[in-house]
Amino acid sequence: MNIDKKKNALTAAKRLEKRYPDAACSLEYKMDPWKLLVMARLSAQCTDARVNIVSKDLFAAYPDVYKMAEADVEDIEKLIFSCGLYKTKARDLSKMCRQLVENFDGKVPDNMKDLLSLSGVGRKIANLILGDVFDKGGIVADTHCIRISGKLGLTGSTNQTIVERELDKIVPKNMQTDFCHRLVMFGREVCTARSPKCKECFLCDICPSCEK
Ligand code: SF4
Repeated sequence: MNIDKKKNALTAAKRLEKRYPDAACSLEYKMDPWKLLVMARLSAQCTDARVNIVSKDLFAAYPDVYKMAEADVEDIEKLIFSCGLYKTKARDLSKMCRQLVENFDGKVPDNMKDLLSLSGVGRKIANLILGDVFDKGGIVADTHCIRISGKLGLTGSTNQTIVERELDKIVPKNMQTDFCHRLVMFGREVCTARSPKCKECFLCDICPSCEK
């Protein structure tokens, strides 16, 4: 199937908006940018539901960036143990908080270069912050985004950086953040990894992978 990627991306974004009007990040960060940064780091190879649970105790112990910057790494480890990869994540969180305090006055930076200078922050997390916090757009190329974009023929790659770059060209900037949040919802409800529900899918007519 020869497809017009830009047109299909826009169609998909509009239909996803209709189906999921309240696009929201599934990490419950209470509009605190620093908390989103911490939770996004915790979410690697862990469910958002688990991160939301673990974060309650974590933020009760360390309510702000200054408190976490002073914390012993071992104490952070104990609180985030159930998220997996806890040693690496605790080390990153500790260093990231110290970097925020030392280099950015305790504030989360609003640009890609500075975000990438933080320990444990890659382009996926940086784009999440840029989009959700600073309203600058950004493709969050997570597992749902990569898988479903591939199914829809919007990208031929499974490489996170390439998918981000390709989608950035075809999804309008002002729709990118919500588009990615909605792909997560769609990936859990309809286009699931194990058995996509093509028969009930509202994107079937523009999807080269539709098996209806
Ligand atoms: S038609 Fe099937 S493969 Fe394509 S997006 Fe929908 S559920 Fe996924």
